[in-house]
Amino acid sequence: MRIILIGPPGAGKGTQCQRLVEFLKVPHLSTGEMLRAEVRSRTPAGVEAANFMEQGQLVPDPIIVGMVSRRLQAPDCRSGCLLDGFPRTLPQAETLDDLLERRAMTVDGVIELAVPRDELVRRMLARRREDDDPEIFSKRITSFEVQTAPLLDYYLRQGKLASIDGLGTAEEIFDRVKIAVRRFERTARS
Ligand code: ADP
Repeated sequence: MRIILIGPPGAGKGTQCQRLVEFLKVPHLSTGEMLRAEVRSRTPAGVEAANFMEQGQLVPDPIIVGMVSRRLQAPDCRSGCLLDGFPRTLPQAETLDDLLERRAMTVDGVIELAVPRDELVRRMLARRREDDDPEIFSKRITSFEVQTAPLLDYYLRQGKLASIDGLGTAEEIFDRVKIAVRRFERTARS
């Protein structure tokens, strides 16, 4: 299974991704984590990406696409993966389709973790991590609404989207995630 998990910052994507990779037994491809590793190792890509990330802006596509493309070619991704944080824009989604097509692969399904904006802000204020500057956080939500939300429509039209209510306990939400995965499995088999 090749699945994409999409959700605004603070939606609980991390928790659901962790559970889902264990459940599916596929590698977790988080562009946020990959970028943070590049920044820590001070690679040229990491040095360039750092400024964008600190400002809550998207890192330029050449960096992201190169990174994901290399990772998708690794042997452990052959039978599937969970994509988290990528694609984030329509051009990235189109690039991903091209990358996969060249390797005779496809996206099996896309899960949207839907959480209203006021709930995201409430959660952020309650947990207050040091990287949760309210202004930057708000920018990241807006960037999600403007740049990432159009992706949902792109995958809806391909019949690949499962929108899930992101309110409830992690357990309740994961039950909904599993229902979506079963649906993708049925479609992949038919
Ligand atoms: P979030 O907490 O918003 O889910 P991530 O951990 O996924 O953030 O990513 C952290 C930062 O890395 C983003 O704010 C952005 O600057 C950059 N980033 C991650 N994935 C992408 C992507 N697909 N395209 C552009 N920038 C990205």
